[in-house]
Amino acid sequence: MKLPIEKNQRYEMFIEDIGIHGEGIGRIHGFTVFVPDALPTEKVHVLVVKVKKHFAYAKLLEILEPSKDRVQPKCPVATKCGGCQLQHLSYPAQLAFKTKKVKDHLERIGGFSDVEVGFAKGMQDPWRYRNKAQFPVGGETGEPKIGFFANHSHRIIDTETCYLQNEINDTIVSMIRAFFTEYEITLYDETIHRGLVRHILTRIGKQTGEIMVCIVINGKHLPHSEVLVERLRSISGMTSIVLNKNTAQTNIILGEQVHILWGKPYITDCIGDVVFEISPLSFYQVNPMQTQILYQTALDFADLHGNETVLDLYCGIGTISLFLARHAKHVFGVEIVPEAIADAKNNAMQNHIENATFYAGAAEELIPQLYAKEALSADVVVVDPPRKGCDTALLDTIVQIQPKKMVYVSCDSATLARDLAYLCQRGFQLERVQVVDMFPSTVHVETVVLLSQQKPDDTIEIDLDLDELDATAAETKATYEEIKAYVWDKHHLKVSSLYISQIKRKCGLEVGQNYNLSKPESAKVSAKKEAAIMDALKHFQMI
Ligand code: SAH
Repeated sequence: MKLPIEKNQRYEMFIEDIGIHGEGIGRIHGFTVFVPDALPTEKVHVLVVKVKKHFAYAKLLEILEPSKDRVQPKCPVATKCGGCQLQHLSYPAQLAFKTKKVKDHLERIGGFSDVEVGFAKGMQDPWRYRNKAQFPVGGETGEPKIGFFANHSHRIIDTETCYLQNEINDTIVSMIRAFFTEYEITLYDETIHRGLVRHILTRIGKQTGEIMVCIVINGKHLPHSEVLVERLRSISGMTSIVLNKNTAQTNIILGEQVHILWGKPYITDCIGDVVFEISPLSFYQVNPMQTQILYQTALDFADLHGNETVLDLYCGIGTISLFLARHAKHVFGVEIVPEAIADAKNNAMQNHIENATFYAGAAEELIPQLYAKEALSADVVVVDPPRKGCDTALLDTIVQIQPKKMVYVSCDSATLARDLAYLCQRGFQLERVQVVDMFPSTVHVETVVLLSQQKPDDTIEIDLDLDELDATAAETKATYEEIKAYVWDKHHLKVSSLYISQIKRKCGLEVGQNYNLSKPESAKVSAKKEAAIMDALKHFQMI
């Protein structure tokens, strides 16, 4: 079949929409084309670089008619670096984009029509908001490259400053850069797994001004580290300088072993009036100003009066739990990483909070077990899962617990919509939805949702608009081969048809008969592949 457009040809086109990765979407002769860096309402001149069966990618050559929302990116490497996707979009338009993304997902995946989504709560000054930086390190000995990975690749873009990071990082990085050059420290090359320094990680306490520098090495020692320590100590606020040993051939940044070069093993920071100890390995929200707003929204939705039992599932180092504990009778936190639970217990102790108890374990295993054994009860359940959302075993138990309220904090509105549909078919009612912008200049969206529990005889049914879902799927339905090709191109991962069918089924999509057969445990989709397949399904607008 001849496609209506050709690779390496130039076209003029109109951009109609913006995709979930911030790319412009339009049509050439009715054929869907993705154009990174183009914005809705723009007339553009493009070069088609890749043509697939149902869509194509094009490079933006010239903007013939710019959008009124287009702004000049602040950062000179904004279009090359993979960190920011929306710097060319004005901040009010970014907030509108994020609000609409959540509304679209709730409608298309969740089947919720006419849902009111609170306009994204943004920042006064949406720059330099991050409290954690992770700079990949590479290059030849004596010529270090320190910066960020380019879009969809591991090529390091050498960066002098990043406008999302605290300015003090510029001083830290330039000091380390000079040290590497002076002492001819070898730099990691992931293709051959050689070279010493892999990453530089920094953390800064917003309220306390305390700074941590962590050098991640592929080895045991950093030669002349005492010189580096001496220099870094001259920076005001320096509190902790550590080495992290990661000799594994992996994309995971941190290894498990931490060695203190100087100072404390952690820094402290506050959210509200609760103080937290943060070590290199702890999960801690990266935008402290907006975290306060996020948690306050969760607290407002929970509307605690002091006599409630609260479950905080996926609690990390207990940040939400401790924020809520002052307003509740008791909070029980559950988290899968044992070290995070140790931090949570310690944080409770340091803050003299005695009405919080923490358990290490998978929420979807522990909560059903506790419910079965002890008839666990709760007035309010808070969940803050990773991107893949909640496991149905957990959602089923929450339905059984019948809390009066549930607060769902989500970093992925697609899985949020899926889980909300599941809960609302089982007695919950969607009350409020509020978007909070934790990550200006990027496409990431954080949402807080309040659900209330209906009495069993008062259950409401939410109709999933399957017709609409089917129509959407039929329009842009991609084959297994196309999904595989996309996952390979974009994520460099190989996925089988079985994997894809499992994820499709999880997303409520029709799957072929063969793929409906139950498969052995070993076929469980790894989290990374799952995320990549989900990305493809979103990309093809199948979910
Ligand atoms: N609420 C915390 C952390 C949210 S991030 C905060 O605001 O800081 C999500 C957390 O879920 C991570 O700490 C992750 O380790 C944890 N997690 C992932 N899978 C889990 C599971 N199956 N059960 C419990 N916790 C899990």
